[in-house]
Amino acid sequence: MINILDKTFVPFIPAATIEHRVSELAALISKDYENHCPVFLVVLNGAFLFAGELVKRVNLSCEINFIRFSSYSKTESTGEVKEIIGLDKDLRDRDVIIIEDIVDTGLTMTELVKKVREMSPKSVEIATLLHKPAALKTPVSMRYTGFEIENKFVVGYGLDYDGIGRNLDSIYVLA
Ligand code: 5GP
Repeated sequence: MINILDKTFVPFIPAATIEHRVSELAALISKDYENHCPVFLVVLNGAFLFAGELVKRVNLSCEINFIRFSSYSKTESTGEVKEIIGLDKDLRDRDVIIIEDIVDTGLTMTELVKKVREMSPKSVEIATLLHKPAALKTPVSMRYTGFEIENKFVVGYGLDYDGIGRNLDSIYVLA
């Protein structure tokens, strides 16, 4: 059990289980993209740890780009719009693999995939460490999923609670 700020979290997915699963995903990706040179788009901040552990196990020539997908208000009438920040690669005709920490409602990922597709890549796939099927509000097709979990708030292994907990080597769930 750990306390972060005002909340108590209990152990959920141990570090060794995560490591094992990340290795399995890396093996799958290495096989699927054999003789290709994919571009990994790592969605900051949450995916930094998962991405680091994943790509070091991937046995491929590849490129890695770190992006943020942030809201900004264009005009009052358009309301909130999200844009990709930090991308410095031309994705045209490239095999893109988006690396995300968690797909919850799926709304963020749906918008991100749409924006990436506008850049005319050859293919776009998603690798997410966690997925909460019960929380999905829109269908998202993930090629690589670490763990399907129940609809509860988790921290650790890149995921935070109010900025804290990203450095934990295992995943904890709100008690
Ligand atoms: P979605 O658009 O799929 O609802 O939201 C995805 C984002 O919400 C994730 O990238 C993550 O930042 C945040 N999120 C969703 N569920 C959790 C959770 O259980 N824990 C943490 N720390 N963040 C979450």
